[in-house]
Amino acid sequence: MTDKKVKKPKKKGVQYYGKKLWKLFSEYIRKRDCIEGDFERCKCFTCGVVMPYKRMQAGHYIPRQFKLTKFDERNNNAQCYACNMLYGGNPAEYHQRLLELYGEDVMDELLELQRKYKIEGCKNMDVDWYKENIEIYRAKVGKLDLPASNCSVEDLPF
Ligand SMILES: [Zn+2]
Repeated sequence: MTDKKVKKPKKKGVQYYGKKLWKLFSEYIRKRDCIEGDFERCKCFTCGVVMPYKRMQAGHYIPRQFKLTKFDERNNNAQCYACNMLYGGNPAEYHQRLLELYGEDVMDELLELQRKYKIEGCKNMDVDWYKENIEIYRAKVGKLDLPASNCSVEDLPF
């Protein structure tokens, strides 16, 4: 008897594309938040410290486990390691800054998306959704890339 078990090639799933998208998305957010005319350094959204964008992180207001707002540009801003990791996102300051930037309607909208995710999940965020957004953010990052900057993105785990 021969062993008929054939290994199927593993199909890349949402997790794989999710990581890929996050890498691009995070790069986009940190470059978007670079100081005007600088393109290398950005200011932490919550404490104001200025650091090279490569050392910054894209920090969420609504935590990233709520997937409907995980890749929402309003919900992500450049943050230093201390604010994002040590101070749990610095939520009180984050709330205040976001409110000043976008107003109450957007704050409500983000909270509504969080509620929606709790109830309905994120069925539309399938592999195709991720692939589509990978293309969108590849283009967006490209537009922010200036000839002078030869940045390589560090492989940050978030
Ligand atoms: Zn900070």
